[in-house]
Amino acid sequence: MQAITDDSSTAIKGTIAIDTTNKQLRLSMPNTIKKVAVIGAGTMGAGIAGLCAVNGCDVVLLDLKTETAQQGIDKLCGGRNPAVTAEQAARISAGSLDDLNQISDCDWICEAVVENLQIKRDLFSRLEPVRKDGSIITTNTSGIPLRDIYADMPERLRRDIAVTHFFNPVHIMKLVELVPGSETSTETMETLAGFLGGPLGNGLGKGVVYAKDTVNFIGNRIGCFWMLAGLHKAIEADISMETVDALMSKPIGLPPTGLYGLIDLIGLDVMDFVGKNLEQNLAADDPCRAYVKLPATESTMLANGQLGRKTGGGFYKMLKADDGSKSMQVFDLQARDWRAMQPATLDTTHQDVATLLFADDEEGQFAWDILSATFTYAASLVPEISDDIVNIDRAMKWGFNWAHGPFEMMDLVGAEKIASKLQNQGTELTGMLKVLNENKLSHFYENSNGTTQYLGTDGKYHALAQS
Ligand code: NAD
Repeated sequence: MQAITDDSSTAIKGTIAIDTTNKQLRLSMPNTIKKVAVIGAGTMGAGIAGLCAVNGCDVVLLDLKTETAQQGIDKLCGGRNPAVTAEQAARISAGSLDDLNQISDCDWICEAVVENLQIKRDLFSRLEPVRKDGSIITTNTSGIPLRDIYADMPERLRRDIAVTHFFNPVHIMKLVELVPGSETSTETMETLAGFLGGPLGNGLGKGVVYAKDTVNFIGNRIGCFWMLAGLHKAIEADISMETVDALMSKPIGLPPTGLYGLIDLIGLDVMDFVGKNLEQNLAADDPCRAYVKLPATESTMLANGQLGRKTGGGFYKMLKADDGSKSMQVFDLQARDWRAMQPATLDTTHQDVATLLFADDEEGQFAWDILSATFTYAASLVPEISDDIVNIDRAMKWGFNWAHGPFEMMDLVGAEKIASKLQNQGTELTGMLKVLNENKLSHFYENSNGTTQYLGTDGKYHALAQS
């Protein structure tokens, strides 16, 4: 049995070495996952079951009741853009937890039930005796530490377990974060990586990012920092919601929803839950602690059930007049009341990240505040949450649809210029920004002889494996 350590780019224990940096997947490996069991047929479980069926796997989808599992399958086939065809859906059979023998010949068992440690642990205890030797068992948790799930479980489970953290909607988002436990075998990780990252037909066609068993893994750790810090910094900056979203989108290569639009999609209740989970699990000196509680107005919105799109409005809402015409309204955070949306027009120097971050006005200062804090945070988290900058950049691109990850964005602007501006304002350089500065380097990635290299924690450039 081999364990993946979390402290080295070539994590080694025992005789088999596995490269946990931006790893080249061994796609030549035969795909050994043919039959899959997914437990929990909600948003994520049904999505994962559908993706496996599209890949040609036979799938058993189990929930508390067979009818719930069947509803999950029906949803996959419905809507304007169904995730699976009727033929693919026929590969998925619905069942309930009353007949766990259905998982006994499955190669991969993926748990995707509600986010509750005790429920997940009870389930793993029931699944473990039934699954076959050599099968792999994973959890789709978005925030529960894996070590808490497998604590005191049998050795066989501790060797075969990992987190496979898919993003919603499963059939669209490219990212899967793969997280080993402290005793997870190399074989388990390689088989999973090959299957998740292999092209459809011999895998699920996802972008695999190697994360560690730390709170919120990579994408949500940095993405939630950006969102929660953004909510607080926007209030301090006292600029309109429309301007915040205009700045936090196209100019910096982020999706058009911006900051408030994205939180409307996610829901203030989920953001509050995420904040509480961070508060419980972050180190005492983690900079994100300053932002884990929602600002006062957002807390009132939460208490009033004004959560976002799922409740008909959060920061934005569509107003339908008696004559049938529609207009977008925004919830003015100062006045705590709705008003007509006034689309923001950005100055030309604010339309590009390289000039925006150095613009000497309120908008430039706000963009600098939120992005420089996000860059500094990301830089400080290598190697805590990821062995290298590559996995962080990929997580933000594949999970949050950022055009560039934080380190790529810094290179676009000029990483050296960002480090200088931070130092000039008295901010101590952290992690990878410190590595860059101490080695007198100007960028995180460089092209040499037609190949891209990335800056490692050792201050040297390393070859980048293709995604
Ligand atoms: P969901 O509420 O849509 O579905 C959960 C399903 O689990 C329900 O069908 C429920 O009936 C079933 N369930 C509850 N208790 C069960 C039990 N004891 N045994 C079997 N089934 C049980 O939840 P979801 O959004 O699909 O999330 C599932 C997991 O994925 C959670 O751990 C969540 O944190 C994680 N996750 C969610 C998202 C997201 O955007 N929704 C993204 C990434 C990860």
